[in-house]
Amino acid sequence: MEEFRQAARAWLRANVPSEPRPEFGPAVREYDLAWQRKQYEDGWAGIAWPREYGGRDLSLMEQLVWYEEYARAEAPHVGTAFVGLAHAGPTLIARGSDAQKAEYLPPILRGDVVWCQGFSEPGSGSDLASLRTRAEIDGDHLVVNGQKIWTSYAQLADRQELLVRTDPTAPKHRGITWVVCDMSSPGIEVRPIRNIRGEEEYCEVFYTDVRIPLANVVGEIDDGWSVAMSTLSFERGTAFMSDIVELGRTVEELIQVAKEKRSWNAAASAWDDDRIRCELAALRADVAALRALNYATVSRVARTGSPGPESSIVRLSFGLLTQRVFGLAQEIVGDAALDGGAQPDRRWSLGYLNSFRAVIAAGTKDIQRTIIGERVLGLPKDR
Ligand SMILES: Cc1cc2nc3c(=O)[nH]c(=O)nc-3n(C[C@H](O)[C@H](O)[C@H](O)COP(=O)(O)OP(=O)(O)OC[C@H]3O[C@@H](n4cnc5c(N)ncnc54)[C@H](O)[C@@H]3O)c2cc1C
Repeated sequence: MEEFRQAARAWLRANVPSEPRPEFGPAVREYDLAWQRKQYEDGWAGIAWPREYGGRDLSLMEQLVWYEEYARAEAPHVGTAFVGLAHAGPTLIARGSDAQKAEYLPPILRGDVVWCQGFSEPGSGSDLASLRTRAEIDGDHLVVNGQKIWTSYAQLADRQELLVRTDPTAPKHRGITWVVCDMSSPGIEVRPIRNIRGEEEYCEVFYTDVRIPLANVVGEIDDGWSVAMSTLSFERGTAFMSDIVELGRTVEELIQVAKEKRSWNAAASAWDDDRIRCELAALRADVAALRALNYATVSRVARTGSPGPESSIVRLSFGLLTQRVFGLAQEIVGDAALDGGAQPDRRWSLGYLNSFRAVIAAGTKDIQRTIIGERVLGLPKDR
């Protein structure tokens, strides 16, 4: 493992792009795909993915070591490659047919395509199984009509993991189908939504008589809920491995900022404040605990193939911790944090705005608590 770590460190040192990642627009797509392509060409993509689909067939532990070195090297955020690498790909590995794996997995690793996730709808976010976008079988196609919302990077995506209702008469967790949608299909309209940072990151997606081959159904027709649960367990568990490592680095950076930063009366640094020092120490300890939890999740995946409901513990802890880190940063950086344009404090104000997503996306903190209560602790059902 140490040899692997050293090789990863050396490669990253030599290859991390020197130009920063663009903040939005098609340039983001080009940047992310070019960086993914570079990793693939040099054998650093899909470390735990099967070799026959372009991966290296190593363990999730090696994948985790890669993420640790990746964060240490300050390599760019995975960005638009996130859905393909972190949960569409793993779902296809776990649940796709051989033909689907052969078709969809290599282009993800090669950096040829961007994937997005079409799960949420207006009125069906936390209560995902109430989704109403419908699909009817017509010959060897599904014909899709309806709307999705909050679809991150839909305007830049080539493929989508899409949940549709194929049997409106069935109980709500049945009659759902998980299907791969080609985003260039006629009848798809994408409308970007501006987020709190002023970026057009996520979108509304409208479907009018969109024809999708039945061959794109992953799992069985009407049995998509169980496939969606696989996707969500990857999204809540292993998908955040790199972000957790990155959060640890952010805490160390914040400690440095606290040591250097003068408070508003310029008499002392934030580091001289006992309370702030205690909070920074607590954050450092909590990130270490989260990393240990993450190792436990990775070991579970190695045993069972999927992170399971315990992934909600990782997701919830990561979200709450992210909010605490950037909340404290606001205090330490002080008024400068209010200036979204100033460098280097801009990093902390943008991070603060972004921290709200960590307790909403992939299921809100309330939903994660309910899952932990019911499915991990065995408490009585919420409703
Ligand atoms: C940055 C970002 C990116 C996203 N990207 C995508 C994406 O790419 N694809 C995609 O499909 N979706 C995406 N989402 C959507 C995300 O999955 C939903 O926002 C999330 O599941 C919550 O659903 P909702 O917004 O409909 O809120 P609601 O479900 O309406 O919830 C509103 C509030 O009520 C609470 N609540 C609801 N039900 C319960 C309950 N049973 N018990 C206790 N409290 C409850 C919630 O916790 C929340 O506080 C993204 C969201 C964000 C913030």
